[in-house]
Amino acid sequence: MKVLFFAMAVMLSTHLCAQIHNYYQPIEIDIVEHRDSVTIDSSFSIIPNITGECWESTVYNPYKYEEKPKFPLKLNFEDSTYASPIGRKKVVTSRYGWRYGRAHKGIDIDLITGDSIFSMFAGVVRMSRYTSGHGRTVVVRHYNGLETVYAHLSRYGVKENDTVAKGAYLGKGGVSGNARGSHLHLVVNYKGISINPEYLFNFDESNSLRAQELWVTEKWTQPFLHSSRRQSKIKPLLTEDEALASMIKTRSIYIVQPGDTLSRISKRNNVTISSICKINTIRRNSILKIGQQLVIEK
Ligand SMILES: [Zn+2]
Repeated sequence: MKVLFFAMAVMLSTHLCAQIHNYYQPIEIDIVEHRDSVTIDSSFSIIPNITGECWESTVYNPYKYEEKPKFPLKLNFEDSTYASPIGRKKVVTSRYGWRYGRAHKGIDIDLITGDSIFSMFAGVVRMSRYTSGHGRTVVVRHYNGLETVYAHLSRYGVKENDTVAKGAYLGKGGVSGNARGSHLHLVVNYKGISINPEYLFNFDESNSLRAQELWVTEKWTQPFLHSSRRQSKIKPLLTEDEALASMIKTRSIYIVQPGDTLSRISKRNNVTISSICKINTIRRNSILKIGQQLVIEK
């Protein structure tokens, strides 16, 4: 069923009018029959021209050569909810974090091949093509600068540069690329940096955001500080002061136990091996003694 949407921008300030005006054109949006409603965000104005910067359809991370964003990052969301990317109960089978010695930069949600996939927020499709690893992939850039990535699809439902509403159909889930079983690999990127999706969103029935305005520290963008097997403790940072306070490093002493290795100590304490080596001026291959004291900074 095709419905013609006229997305009217709410004019918040006159100097943004021209850009917003150019941007909102009549668009055709597929409405999937079993969805109750499709809403369109109409007043999101943080980045009026989201396709103006690093807009590449052939590169997964077009921000590669840009200056890295400064932490803590402030993110704004128009709504307190997102649209569920799948039409069934969300079962998370693998989380953002360290997995088999590698970074797993997204969250895996179980599905059956052929299940419809929906855009979590309104935005514009930056990429809709096959990439190695991710298989058939759709990347949507949203009006707050975030991008959501939907990987391992079996079919595309959108083209690059399509404007999509919140909850719009993007394609069918599947097992394309490097996937063991059918699932949705969902990634949330900000300027090329992955953010632990669970820091931003509750993946339960509520489809709620942790907060509509929240601050992201580097901790939530580093997979090695999280485990793909369990959810990290999440305390959303709601103000800049809270975020800055959480970034202050604290030092503690760890006493080496029988059987300890640097790798085990780093995992136990959620710190990198290199940071342990640096602070304690030891090498990766240094021999640890039982009872030895190591300074841990985090
Ligand atoms: Zn995955």
